[in-house]
Amino acid sequence: RVVPVLVAGTLVPTVFFTTARDEWIDHAYSIKKIVSPNQPTRKERVVILGSGWGSLSFLQRLDPDKVDITVVSPRSFFFYTPLLAGCSTGTVASTSITESMRWHLHRFKGTSSRPLFLQAHASSIDVEKKTVTCGSSAVGVSTTLDYDQLVVAVGAESNTFNIKGVKEYATMMKEVEDSLKVRREVLEKLESANSLLASGASDEEVRRHLHWVVVGGGPTGVELTAELCDFVNSDVRDYFPALTDKIQISLIEGTGKVLGVFAPHISEYARNKLLKQGANVTTNCFVTGANEKTVSLLNAVDKSKSSIDYGLLVWAGGIGARPFTRAFATQIGGEQLPKKGPLRGLKVDNKFRVAGADNVWALGDCALSGSPPTAQAAYQQGKYLGRLFRETNCEREKVEEHDAFEFHNYGSLAYVGSSSAVADLKLHLWGSEHPAGRGQDSDSTVLEGKGAFAIWRSLYFSKMLSMKNRWQVLFDWCMSGTFGRDISAPY
Ligand code: FAD
Repeated sequence: RVVPVLVAGTLVPTVFFTTARDEWIDHAYSIKKIVSPNQPTRKERVVILGSGWGSLSFLQRLDPDKVDITVVSPRSFFFYTPLLAGCSTGTVASTSITESMRWHLHRFKGTSSRPLFLQAHASSIDVEKKTVTCGSSAVGVSTTLDYDQLVVAVGAESNTFNIKGVKEYATMMKEVEDSLKVRREVLEKLESANSLLASGASDEEVRRHLHWVVVGGGPTGVELTAELCDFVNSDVRDYFPALTDKIQISLIEGTGKVLGVFAPHISEYARNKLLKQGANVTTNCFVTGANEKTVSLLNAVDKSKSSIDYGLLVWAGGIGARPFTRAFATQIGGEQLPKKGPLRGLKVDNKFRVAGADNVWALGDCALSGSPPTAQAAYQQGKYLGRLFRETNCEREKVEEHDAFEFHNYGSLAYVGSSSAVADLKLHLWGSEHPAGRGQDSDSTVLEGKGAFAIWRSLYFSKMLSMKNRWQVLFDWCMSGTFGRDISAPY
């Protein structure tokens, strides 16, 4: 517990003041915007679908003195996905990583027209009439919005690959509600196992409640497993001493290694770190089905079948296109339809124009742009597109002449438990807004352990999009590091 407090106490304030400077620059910039003399007579109506990484980063770069902005999303807040796993165990509170979209729009106060927000699902797009229809499930009404430019940034959804029983019995790991559900279920399983133990139930039944299975060995699955291990090895050990030895945490991965995007020795380090903390890590193993109590498995090497009992099943096994994205791509047809395999997103060019749909742009996880489906990529894309809109006013010739987007991978990080992380950083690209080149893959700086953990925390802290969230997360880290995680809240 001393390590996180030390990290928070030293590195974080440094990053805090650096980023505070960025906010002041932003503020100064927005004041300049208000007195901008070049007001166009006719404003373009820009409708943005989504309140995630891509849309927010795009929105922040638009000039509301030049365009009328409407944001539509069923989620009225932005949330910081990199810290979602920590929410599942109470390392950070869910409210500390969320920020209302209205707060983000409020920053445009003083401009000639303030952007509008509509909490609704976009359900269909009419490319000919340039309208998008949005439905609000809360009050059962639908609204049709006119647009001049439509930016689709609706992200992706968890992909269960139609494996029988997964949708019904597993908890996904994608939204804030999912992490709260995991947290509630973990606390419930602990209390129900405790009741079973007191009632003299069989050891097997108690252990089943305490077997928590995470499927998917990518960064999300690994970070969740690590957070669960931390929770068990510190807080559960203190508050449920009779149960600690009966708890099992299993991570199941279909390929041969966890954290496949990292170098092999980093994957090996992550695996060993999880094993050392008491988790079971099974690779080359596919989930083939699930029911209320068991998960069926297939060994990818020897094709043997087996099943395991579980108390909690969490799915972090990949993402796929949302029904809205699939319906829109199918409606456009032509080159939007893949020759083989499932439809994974909207095909866009290197300026994010949707192929076959004039005045429609797509970015982030819902677009097939060649960048990986990460917050880092969605953020860069939003930033690029915002700049393109400002500089070209979406005039066709100017857009043609504008630079194409180039993704710069600044590196990857993952938390692996007990105040350790792994980092693969492309340091040669840092410190420049528009790095000259991609560099070689061999130009990576690879770190593991406590040093990587300090970087992981500092970097994710500094990348948070609001100062309020930074203070809240800093407070949560200090509180959970000093007093332990809260296990009483009725989430
Ligand atoms: P999202 O951020 O998913 O936003 C999509 C938005 O669209 C949401 O607001 C949604 O409500 C809205 N929407 C959905 N349907 C509709 C509709 N019909 N109409 C209107 N709006 C709609 N990436 C990293 O780079 N680093 C990390 O550490 C990292 N950690 C992650 C941890 C977790 C647990 C998860 C789930 C993801 C993580 N990612 C990380 C990936 C990253 O979060 C995504 O790549 C990123 O969120 C994609 O941004 P986006 O804008 O495309 O979509």
